[in-house]
Amino acid sequence: MNIILLGPPGAGKGTQARRLVEERGMTQLSTGDMLREARSSGTEMGKRVAAVMDRGELVTDEIVIGLIAEKLDSGGGGFIFDGFPRTLAQADALGALLDNMGQRLDAVIEMRVDDEALVARIAARSTCAGCGEVYNDISRPIPADGRCVKCGATEFTRRADDNADSLRQRLMEYYKKTSPLIGYYHAKGQLSVVDGLGEIDAVSAEIKAVLDKA
Ligand code: AMP
Repeated sequence: MNIILLGPPGAGKGTQARRLVEERGMTQLSTGDMLREARSSGTEMGKRVAAVMDRGELVTDEIVIGLIAEKLDSGGGGFIFDGFPRTLAQADALGALLDNMGQRLDAVIEMRVDDEALVARIAARSTCAGCGEVYNDISRPIPADGRCVKCGATEFTRRADDNADSLRQRLMEYYKKTSPLIGYYHAKGQLSVVDGLGEIDAVSAEIKAVLDKA
């Protein structure tokens, strides 16, 4: 089963994708994670995209489509596309890549959250440096012993682009370039909407209901 999690920054795509990996053995393909990895390992491409990411703009379609194309031939259990596609060109490219592999997209899940909640969530977000588990100062704080519940690491980071200026730009990019994908997948009969504002477990249950029907 191959699915897309679609939604603005802070909607909870990464958190839900990680759950699906654990529960269903699917493979998470997050272009944001791939780009951050390229940055931290200092590749040429990583250096080229760093400033673009910090400003909250989208990197080029060519780069992200290339990253996805490289990963698509491996991984059982199906793929969760998290933060990809973000433009119509990327959506077309994904369709073609899946076609070539004789695979299809089973569901596109839009996680709907209002802007105010996004700003609050992102300001409170931190990530385990060991395994990438996502925490939130308010709704899911780092445990009192300072250790990640998943891997026990004690170092947590805040993303460079989780600041007010960059977030404003990321939201703008979402509404201008990514939200047209809602109509695109709706027209193909593939879109389902879940309420991304609920508790993590409630959102997971809504996603499960969609996948059980797909
Ligand atoms: P994310 O972790 O998904 O919020 O992505 C972080 C940043 O990486 C975004 O603000 C973009 O600069 C870049 N990025 C991630 N995925 C894409 C994509 N599919 N297309 C263009 N830029 C992307």
